[in-house]
Amino acid sequence: MTFATLGLIEPLLRALETLGYQTPTPVQAQAIPAVLAGRDLMAAAQTGTGKTAGFALPLLQLLTMEGPKVAANSARALILCPTRELAEQVHASVAEYAQHLPLTTYAVYGGVSINPQMMKLRKGVDILVATPGRLIDLFRQNALKLNQLQTLVLDEADRMLDLGFSEELANIYRMLPKKRQTLLFSATFSDEIRLLAGQMLNDPLTVEVSPRNVAANTVKQWVVPVDKKRKAELFVHLMRKGRWKQVLVFAKTRNGVDALVDKLQGLGINADGIHGDKPQATRQRALDRFKSSDVQILVATDVAARGLDIEDLPLVVNFDLPIVAEDYIHRIGRTGRAGNTGEAISLVCADEVNMLSAIEMLTRQTLTRKMEADFEPEHRVPDTDASGQVVKKPKKPKKPKASGGGGKRNLGKWVDSGDAAPAEPSIKPVRKVPVFNTGPRKKK
Ligand code: AMP
Repeated sequence: MTFATLGLIEPLLRALETLGYQTPTPVQAQAIPAVLAGRDLMAAAQTGTGKTAGFALPLLQLLTMEGPKVAANSARALILCPTRELAEQVHASVAEYAQHLPLTTYAVYGGVSINPQMMKLRKGVDILVATPGRLIDLFRQNALKLNQLQTLVLDEADRMLDLGFSEELANIYRMLPKKRQTLLFSATFSDEIRLLAGQMLNDPLTVEVSPRNVAANTVKQWVVPVDKKRKAELFVHLMRKGRWKQVLVFAKTRNGVDALVDKLQGLGINADGIHGDKPQATRQRALDRFKSSDVQILVATDVAARGLDIEDLPLVVNFDLPIVAEDYIHRIGRTGRAGNTGEAISLVCADEVNMLSAIEMLTRQTLTRKMEADFEPEHRVPDTDASGQVVKKPKKPKKPKASGGGGKRNLGKWVDSGDAAPAEPSIKPVRKVPVFNTGPRKKK
């Protein structure tokens, strides 16, 4: 199959040729004809499957072939993304695909001044990529009207709900014209996503290109058990041993990012960090320097790393496991993209066993554990498997308590191991459930 057989027009085919795309990916093969035919879409597609081109190419074609010229302060298509980085990334891809078309594109997001964005919108843009909060601000300030909108794309919809954007999405929904085409992309289909789809989509075609919630099989994944306090030391050891050249590292918190970057820089390692406390320009600069290999190690929180797309990123390290299991899939989706192979290594301490179990259950696999010599943990990471069970070994037999008087003085007989207390009940992994349409938005 080729892009031409999917019915794409010549200026798009020319752009794809320049980009070196030869064959449509599975999500593109399914989404492109459906979108061209005007269908609404509910697509389960992970990062790295080529989903951006899956919606952007037919969208660009429809906007070129149909509809009136864009009016002042208007947009004909809106792509909603969860983070600024993803908005930038999607916009960059759309602009590349549109290079031979007479269409205008633009991205708006928070964390930067709104005035230049208002100026830019005056003439109207054909395709607007936006984060939900800034879109609403622009709409409320009359810088943007949505009555000309033909198509709405919700990209990484699950992530938008995870980030607490349900209220914004409900507000945006009220701002949209009733007659429109809506395309929803999500790595996972939770009940909340189905609820959202039920409200926003009209008789959608469901596209599922990879088994639900299963991580890309082009990524080799394993776990190195280690004590929490030795993680940084282990990271440096593995980095030197494996001669790592370009690594994206995920830490759970902003402080965790800063602490690891400080430690690495202190050792003369070329590292930088991105997280939500850093100004947008600083984050973008760090990303750009990482992409151009000026920075070797980029340490990031989940939110900050969201839009990152680097060709052939060979390795992702989970310095901490994510609290939300789905984030594991997003994180490792940064490597092994578009058919390349990649590696994802997780440094796991005993405290993280429930998160490990939740990830294994979600991805339906038991992650291989590789002990690193001299880093064997003092606090053992209990066994886990894809069933969600955390297997705790029976405790060592204890001396029975004295029936009266001080236990130390009573030298009663040892309990035979057969009498030992049963293992603790297995602990079910805790999974955060995103809430749609309730509660205030969490701070990004
Ligand atoms: P996405 O899932 O949209 O983030 O895309 C992942 C990566 O795959 C991006 O770097 C795209 O440029 C690339 N890509 C998308 N479609 C194709 C294709 N048909 N052939 C080769 N590379 C592609």
